[in-house]
Amino acid sequence: MRAYFSLGSNQGDRAQYLTLGVHRVRGDDVHRVSRVYQTDPVGGVAQDDFWNLVLEVATPATPRDLLARIHDAEAAARRTREVRWGPRTLDVDILWIDGVTCDETDLTVPHPRMYQRRFVLAPLRELRPDLVSAQDLRRADGRVHLLGTLETLHYTERHPRGWNGEPL
Ligand code: ATP
Ligand code: CA
Ligand code: CA
Repeated sequence: MRAYFSLGSNQGDRAQYLTLGVHRVRGDDVHRVSRVYQTDPVGGVAQDDFWNLVLEVATPATPRDLLARIHDAEAAARRTREVRWGPRTLDVDILWIDGVTCDETDLTVPHPRMYQRRFVLAPLRELRPDLVSAQDLRRADGRVHLLGTLETLHYTERHPRGWNGEPL
């Protein structure tokens, strides 16, 4: 069974928090990671831009196991909850699990707001173009800007001058 997660960070070392999240959520499972997109925050609270990606995990874990993994990942990132939709070191949502729907108070799958959000659909479309049409992407809200792979972003942050050989 394949499961899809949206990971987002807009506080501190965003590349580091996303990497931490990917490691915690994937565990030992086979996985793929989308590229990273810089995106406008939603919800109207003034804050820094988010970096977002989507993680695919091929796993025998149950949806409840996966929910426990995302809480573990957010706790490892010392996420605090102050304002709803406010800044956070790491937010992980379960977007979609092949063949599974779940409608409970603490777990709704597919994620009820995923098709409204371009920051979810753009990276998800890289991994699952069958789930996200070009029209779905156009209809969604928010601006997204492709940054590159997570590895490149780590490298760029550590070598801000001349990572491509060119002095800035
Ligand atoms: P949004 O869901 O609109 O993206 P959010 O991510 O900021 O908002 P949180 O405060 O992170 O909301 O999550 C609140 C609760 O939502 C979680 O504790 C979790 O139990 C519940 N929840 C329900 N469905 C899901 C899901 N598919 N993925 C993650 N959490 C979910
Ligand atoms: Ca979220
Ligand atoms: Ca969440």
